[in-house]
Amino acid sequence: MNLQALIEDIRQQVLPFYDQGQVADYIPALASVAPHQFGFAIHTLDGQQFACGDADTPFSMQSISKAFMLALTLQVDGETLWRHVGKEPSGNPFNSLVQLEYEHGIPRNPFINAGALVVTDRAMGHFGDAHRHLLHWLRQETGNPKLDADPVIAASEREHGDRNAALAHFMKSYGNIDHAVQTVLAQYFDSCSIALTCRELARAGLFLANHGVSPLTGERYLSRSQAKQVNAVMLTCGTYDAAGEFAYRVGLPVKSGVGGGLLAVIPGKMSIAVWSPQLDSRGNSVLGLEALDRFTTRTGLSIF
Ligand code: GLN
Repeated sequence: MNLQALIEDIRQQVLPFYDQGQVADYIPALASVAPHQFGFAIHTLDGQQFACGDADTPFSMQSISKAFMLALTLQVDGETLWRHVGKEPSGNPFNSLVQLEYEHGIPRNPFINAGALVVTDRAMGHFGDAHRHLLHWLRQETGNPKLDADPVIAASEREHGDRNAALAHFMKSYGNIDHAVQTVLAQYFDSCSIALTCRELARAGLFLANHGVSPLTGERYLSRSQAKQVNAVMLTCGTYDAAGEFAYRVGLPVKSGVGGGLLAVIPGKMSIAVWSPQLDSRGNSVLGLEALDRFTTRTGLSIF
């Protein structure tokens, strides 16, 4: 199958969905992103690359950073991590507070905001500056030494971060955050505000498709079993309260972010990045979901 022709055709098919969804505006700096953009990039394990549309335009990775922070933390924290954060789908919005009280400050999974704050806190225990560690890792894997957090987005997140602050303080009251809340929040916001392109994101995700080993550097970041675990949590929790719909329509581990990006993994084959800023009511990219649905349906490639 000619994957380049296929993704260009899919792009044409999903462009009419530009009349649906909205750019995230609860982080004011994200609201100024031009809505009608669409990028698609594929990187296969044997080194082939396919891309179309706005695949070279940087966007804010937002919650996609949670997948990488989880992987880097799991690598050093091992099973201990799961005493601090669960691995069950939440069925609630990504920034919800409701489950934390009756689950004694243990967030449901690492991909809702509460869970990512705990993972960042654990990462700080190992790396000191968790954000710098992630950034350094991403620079190496994407091959872009200039990759960086966008200071305008990070400042905007900080200024409007009351809900994340509430989550962090609440979990600290249960002893599930070790470090100062302000520092954990700052590192979390900086990581969410890292800007990268679809092409770079697809490269960075390759180790998840390759059972924990980066095919670019040959380095093992996760055991085979841990790579399975991260992919499993992406499948069940990576798109928040739409994880069921993504599993049903796409059938792949996917992690989304409110910048409109999606990282999808086909274990043993390839890593896929899609980006389009307009979001549905659950905070996932409208065109991104449409494109991934068409891609797995037309290629027959899914984990099922
Ligand atoms: N930085 C965003 C937040 O904390 C990430 C949310 C997301 O991408 N779902 O609200």
